Amino acid sequence: MPFARSLKRLSVSLLTGMAAFLIVSSSILACEITLKPDKASGSVGDIIKLEVTVALTHRNCPVPIADTKFKLTSNIKVTEQTQWVLTGRDTYKATLSVQLISPGTGKLEVIRDCVKEGGYASITITIGAAGAAAVQPSESQQSSGLPASETEPAIEPSGQADDEPEMSWGEAFKEAFAQPFIWAYLGLAAFAYAGLMMRKRRWRYISLAFSMVYLGFFLGLCPCSIGAMQNFVLHLGDAKQYLAQFIVLAIPIALTLFLGRLYCGWVCPMGAVQQFLYRKDLAIKLPDGLGVRLRKLRFVVLGGILIAALYTGTTAFAEIDPFKSLFNAQIAPVPTTLLALLIISSVFIFTPWCRFLCPMGAVLSVVAKLARRQVAFTAECKNCGACAKSFCDYKAIVPGKPLPVIAQNECARCGECLSRCPRGAMEYNRPEGGTSNAPAPSIPVPGLGVVPGVSLANE
Ligand code: SF4
Ligand code: SF4
Repeated sequence: MPFARSLKRLSVSLLTGMAAFLIVSSSILACEITLKPDKASGSVGDIIKLEVTVALTHRNCPVPIADTKFKLTSNIKVTEQTQWVLTGRDTYKATLSVQLISPGTGKLEVIRDCVKEGGYASITITIGAAGAAAVQPSESQQSSGLPASETEPAIEPSGQADDEPEMSWGEAFKEAFAQPFIWAYLGLAAFAYAGLMMRKRRWRYISLAFSMVYLGFFLGLCPCSIGAMQNFVLHLGDAKQYLAQFIVLAIPIALTLFLGRLYCGWVCPMGAVQQFLYRKDLAIKLPDGLGVRLRKLRFVVLGGILIAALYTGTTAFAEIDPFKSLFNAQIAPVPTTLLALLIISSVFIFTPWCRFLCPMGAVLSVVAKLARRQVAFTAECKNCGACAKSFCDYKAIVPGKPLPVIAQNECARCGECLSRCPRGAMEYNRPEGGTSNAPAPSIPVPGLGVVPGVSLANE
């Protein structure tokens, strides 16, 4: 009977998830730019009309349509541009008159620079001498979601894009903090801290639900900490342009440094999905020691995504990211297969992505060793074992004598043990305040050498 009830609850959860998936699936695909005609040619002196259509398919596009940029080679120029006209839901159209100035190949690029994916399209125009017929057709390229620099060789520009003065740091910060998602991350962090201090463990579900709906489904998980990590290594020299992304990366690291992995327990939309899918009554117990070994995979994934980003010059992981597939309702063979595996495994295993694969989790598990506030046992603890056995789904409490030990690098500050210990024998304090903050043993981690306590966990 309990099994039947579990299955019923599981079906309701899956159906609710699928409904949310379908609701958002119609309108949060990537930003798209198209050019018509898609091939052009002419002679010097001709004026070509190009129709540009921009579909702002991220629901809360932070870049106004007027900020769409045109970049041209020096042998063409835009003599006239109509106003952008709204032609459908979040879809705008404008017509450009492009004059052909000198023979050769001209190129017009349409660029939408954005802290999200942005958008890009281009057309090459074959220009013959005055009065001569065009000799070759040219091509246009549909948006790839990547900035021009990531898809095309550099072109000597003569257009509007390069005439703009460089942004100051003040302007860069102003622009970054004008993004609502930055405030969403900060607001959730403040809410989480308050909830933890007041031992309101159920507030965590409110925080996670908001994160999943707003940062996940509404924003399409863009930006996210994993994408920000790749952008950090790719665009370190262009920090002003990518400042909002860097802040999205800095928030979990700074939070973890001061408070431990609060971000994982309360803020991350990817963690939220897995948390809501998990059914404790259907949980599968992993063989002894397997969980500890699997945790090392996070560092392999971390190395893999950074190498892939540097090698391809793009945020390559986004192409196979199962969470992006979920939150953006994008169906493609690899990410959708990974997503299906992730959804099924999350029902039976607590947060498998977080504990075994997440590259951000790998970074935070190292940073968490330095956390200024830690979960600790007080002198009231009688070592009954309830916290390790029943409260801590993250398997961060390791039974021991005279007291259990908390693996601070795995503790997500969920607050379950703090709120539920029958003797009230746990506290959230500075490291020197508790009685059982024994440091986790140092163990070798592939690619990182010996890292203190990275794999200590109750698995
Ligand atoms: S481990 Fe990764 S996916 Fe999981 S909650 Fe932390 S940052 Fe998010
Ligand atoms: S030790 Fe476990 S139960 Fe306690 S706050 Fe950390 S993750 Fe939660």
